[in-house]
Amino acid sequence: MNIITRAQAGLRPPKYVNRGAMLAQSTCHYNGPDIIVSGKKTWDHSKCAGLVRGIQNYHMDAKGWSDIAYNFIICPHGYTFEGRGLNTYNGANGTTSGNKSSHAVMCLAGEGNTFTDAEKVEFRQCVEYVVSKTKCHSGCMGHRDHKSTACPGDIRYKWVHAGMPVPKPTSEPVPEPIPDLRKASDAMVVIRKKNPTQRLLLWNGMTIVGHDPLVTVTPTTPTFEADDVMWELLVDSAKYGNTFVDPRPKD
Ligand SMILES: [Zn+2]
Ligand SMILES: [Zn+2]
Repeated sequence: MNIITRAQAGLRPPKYVNRGAMLAQSTCHYNGPDIIVSGKKTWDHSKCAGLVRGIQNYHMDAKGWSDIAYNFIICPHGYTFEGRGLNTYNGANGTTSGNKSSHAVMCLAGEGNTFTDAEKVEFRQCVEYVVSKTKCHSGCMGHRDHKSTACPGDIRYKWVHAGMPVPKPTSEPVPEPIPDLRKASDAMVVIRKKNPTQRLLLWNGMTIVGHDPLVTVTPTTPTFEADDVMWELLVDSAKYGNTFVDPRPKD
């Protein structure tokens, strides 16, 4: 979770604070149908703190409220701006009981802006953070579950009621396939081992260029311990052409 504190965002202190133990699921809000910043539907993260300050000014000065209405604000770049914070009654959920029981988590983007993966991940982490720090129920509902309103838009409303699915992390590297030398059109191929314990099964007649000293595979060298990250295998194409017989024993 990437929290930006009130001080970091330059928010004003609240006029007053009402705190109490909150118990219900968090409530999702959006910023409106279509958020346009400097003429565009996407914007740099450097603009986000200013947008949050603008909402706070509107709520405190035009609406006369004590503070920005929301407990937390999530930006499309994957950051959580601290609003009223944990176990603090809000002014966003539309009913007195809703304001006193459910943390209001607002998306800085709107229905017409891209619902980014970073926003989904951060929103979910914020809701789970609320659950971990309070007695609140897990999960999330939408503003329209409290009262009749378009908020938080159909896209985010369906998403929170689907259990806030987030994309799977992509950190798992995709293993490179070992090339099939029998189909190689070039005599020189590069082969990488997939994991530290992998043994390479080599074809008779290959020379391992990246290994010192050079190793030429013979029929008595059916396997070779792979202790380098990458080797180049030089195939004697004059001898074998582009067709090779795979000597590996059949499983
Ligand atoms: Zn709302
Ligand atoms: Zn941002």
